[in-house]
Amino acid sequence: MKQLIIRKTEEIENWRRNINSEINFIPTMGNLHNGHIKLISTAKNDNSNLNLVSIFINPLQFDNKLDLENYPKTIDNDIKISFSNGADAIFIPSNEDIYPPNNKNIKFLQAPIELSSALCGLNRIGHFDGVCTVVYRLLNLIKPKNLYLGEKDWQQLLILKNLISTEKLNVAVKSIPTQRDFDGIPLSSRNVNLSKNERKLISFFSSELLEAKRIFQQEKKISLRAIIKKLSAKKISIEYLEHLHPHTLQKARIEDNISLLAGAIRCGETRLIDHVFLMKRRPIIAIDGPAGSGKSTVTKLIAKKLKLLYLDTGAMYRALSWLLIEKNIDYKTEKKFQNILQNISIVFKSNKNLHQDVFINDYCVTKEIRSQEISSIVSKISSIKEVRKFLVKEQRKIGESGGLVAEGRDIGTTVFPNAELKIFLTASIDERAKRRKSDKNSKDSQEIDIHTLKELIKKRDFEDSNRVISPLIKANDAIEIITDGYSINEVVDKIIDIYNDKIPKETQNQ
Ligand code: C5P
Repeated sequence: MKQLIIRKTEEIENWRRNINSEINFIPTMGNLHNGHIKLISTAKNDNSNLNLVSIFINPLQFDNKLDLENYPKTIDNDIKISFSNGADAIFIPSNEDIYPPNNKNIKFLQAPIELSSALCGLNRIGHFDGVCTVVYRLLNLIKPKNLYLGEKDWQQLLILKNLISTEKLNVAVKSIPTQRDFDGIPLSSRNVNLSKNERKLISFFSSELLEAKRIFQQEKKISLRAIIKKLSAKKISIEYLEHLHPHTLQKARIEDNISLLAGAIRCGETRLIDHVFLMKRRPIIAIDGPAGSGKSTVTKLIAKKLKLLYLDTGAMYRALSWLLIEKNIDYKTEKKFQNILQNISIVFKSNKNLHQDVFINDYCVTKEIRSQEISSIVSKISSIKEVRKFLVKEQRKIGESGGLVAEGRDIGTTVFPNAELKIFLTASIDERAKRRKSDKNSKDSQEIDIHTLKELIKKRDFEDSNRVISPLIKANDAIEIITDGYSINEVVDKIIDIYNDKIPKETQNQ
């Protein structure tokens, strides 16, 4: 495909009509650096869509005329950089193209007050309204499938996601973590205007934020006062320094696992923003749902794709049930039963096929626990108070430092109530019985007729949903996905999209 430079809005419309592909859109204001390159190359590697980079310095988002005049302009170099890193077309409109005089059709938008009045919005009046107006205009012209944005401007990213959802625009936002320069400062087109001394001060500010992140990982707390003191000692003028919830931009709460430490400083005429995400532990995904809803298959694939630990809590209840049958233990005589629990160890180990084997007291029971005999007793065993107490404690130990996706019945409600993402996966009873019937891991299910299988699943659903302790219910903040009619990959992709939307990229691989 020929590399194309488009300058007029009508040409964009023509181009769009003639291409036989979806569009990845990378909006920029030019003076491209490695952050932009990362956006363009990420788009290129994500899919086979055409990649369109726009270069437009949007006057509406500048509250200071001088700042607009001084904004670096390096168009020839930007064109070279865009094409050599994967752009198929570059859109370089003029002011009149984007804002034609007397065009009443231009919609001037206002950013939501809750998000735009915090942080940078405090001192840059109208800035986010200008950002929303230009992005809305560009999205309506280009109609891309995906919009690529950097997390460097986290507040802008939140505001644009909000815009897309309130205006019901059919575009997915893909983000990349903040890209930093050799001295730790976030890459920004404005950095070329920094003097040597300003650069030094700003680098000190960024390294203080990164240091705060490191300390938080160990101590799980932060002192804004201590940071402000250090910055002030270097005569750095702080516009703001805040510790906030990463999505609402309200004050961070004690229970927030991921929070945002964001600041803006001033050095002479230059203003620089930077932020880091503070994390108590790595993210957790909780997937709950009834038998046969596809949890295991979906959870395993998500673990693989997102490089998270996979925890099958059902296998732990099954393994325990197996041991009780094997040792002929009557679980109704509670006293004896508690002694047994004290001496139980359940561990998961990867086998040579890269699947997980389940061991209980050193017996490998991976296959045995999938029998109908176990399926028919496991709900009774899992309703016993001591069993739940014991296994929930074990499960929390496994998830202590996060970085895992766990499946079960009470993950989002009891085991990890602070999980960053909670999914309630379900499907109609017909669909679930069909899936169990074709489950190659369960020979017994294959041999039972579909009608009986349906009745058995209904019985287990009833027992799991009606027990007194931690019954199977959807957590208030869980997202329900009904999987009838969807392929496994569609469900997996949907959950990964929600995860990427909720969890900052910066925190995903640490
Ligand atoms: O998911 P799976 O079918 O392997 O789960 C087996 C049983 O273990 C469930 O029917 C339920 O009784 C129990 N279970 C539970 N809580 C969990 C996971 C499973 O009670 N978190």
